[in-house]
Amino acid sequence: MLYQRRIPDNQIVSAKLELQLRGGRYAGVGTQLLGIVGLGGAALYSVETVYLVGWAISLLVLNLWWSRRINQTLLANRHFSQRPTVLNELVAYSLVTGAIWAATLIALDSYLSDLIFYICVMCVAIISVVNIAVSVVIRSAYLAQLVFSLGATAMWLAWQVDERPFNAGFSVLLVALMAFLIVTSEWMSKSFSEMVETSLERAAMSKDLASLTDSLKTRNLQLQDARKQLAQQATIDEMTGLRNRRGVNIIINDELGRVKRAQLPVSLIVLDVDHFKAYNDNYGHPAGDQVLQRIATVMLEMTNRSGEFAARMGGEEFAMFFPTMRLAAALEIAEKVRAGVSNLGISHEKSPTAEYVTVSIGVVSCVPDWDLEFDQILQAADDAMYESKVSGRNRVTAGELASNGSSDKTA
Ligand code: GH3
Ligand code: MG
Ligand code: MG
Repeated sequence: MLYQRRIPDNQIVSAKLELQLRGGRYAGVGTQLLGIVGLGGAALYSVETVYLVGWAISLLVLNLWWSRRINQTLLANRHFSQRPTVLNELVAYSLVTGAIWAATLIALDSYLSDLIFYICVMCVAIISVVNIAVSVVIRSAYLAQLVFSLGATAMWLAWQVDERPFNAGFSVLLVALMAFLIVTSEWMSKSFSEMVETSLERAAMSKDLASLTDSLKTRNLQLQDARKQLAQQATIDEMTGLRNRRGVNIIINDELGRVKRAQLPVSLIVLDVDHFKAYNDNYGHPAGDQVLQRIATVMLEMTNRSGEFAARMGGEEFAMFFPTMRLAAALEIAEKVRAGVSNLGISHEKSPTAEYVTVSIGVVSCVPDWDLEFDQILQAADDAMYESKVSGRNRVTAGELASNGSSDKTA
């Protein structure tokens, strides 16, 4: 699909006006000054100095005022589309200066010799030629000046055709020059318009592109966040905030590998809520959920060091992993968890074991061999927990690994 950006017409006019005012600010006024010097110089010996000085000062004042006006406009507001009078002012200024040149020529006519007069006519023609470069961006302004200076001069020469020897020739010459300048200005103005339009299109497109890139970046970040959250949710048990079985699987090999490399002991505690089915049946499932959450809090308090973690392995069964921990310390923690849970004092009237919710715990410690799998340690801890169940529940039992790991029973 082709991406195209349309620029509104008023924006184009606005940009052209700015281009003309900025670019033509000094050049335009400079051309006028050249005219003043040229015509003033030509008339210096033929016209009384006081008139010449008065004329030059008036023109200077007009041009200085205009130059100031442009500066103020440029400073005040770059968006000329909001100030349509600026365009009219420019056309009016061009018209007035054009008319002044023609009027000056007409006024000088009776004072000057043929040669000087025709030099002055050429001078006005040159001003019009130079002006095309300065003011063609806004063609209406250029045409106003052209018609009111060259057009009026040509008409004057035609009207005064018998007064001087070459009036007819100069009149035709000026009309031809005017026609040429009208055609040329049309062509130049079109090029300027295209140039302005293209550069505006480009600016707008790069702005669009920048905002597109920005929104893509934001989208990307949001996606990354969402992906992170999803991955985390997939490894965290929503109800308790502990790692779930998947979360354990992801990190356990690294954790176990570290211990294996350093040949350090590792301890695993497995915990199961006693008579939990009866609890649910008696108090309802939501109350059962709350019990699981509170038990999770007790376990979280005991797993603070790096590498340690508590996890919900499924249902009402939990595990706690302690790298670099020996059996004695692990048994101590297991006992603290057991006592911590029963000290929560969660009433469980259907439990044959105690008045409160209790847990049965199995603990295994070993210095793992290279080929010892986590599942083997888990199985051993599970067996120990089962041992706690059958021997009365609400207790801690230390288990043994069947093979592959040197069971660690030392303190
Ligand atoms: P035991 O002392 O032998 O462990 O008896 P038990 O009743 O705790 O064991 P059993 O395996 O018979 O029942 C486990 C119960 O745990 C059954 C199930 O309703 C409950 N349970 C499992 N997951 C959840 C859970 O997410 N929320 C709640 N409220 N209950 C759960
Ligand atoms: Mg149970
Ligand atoms: Mg169970």
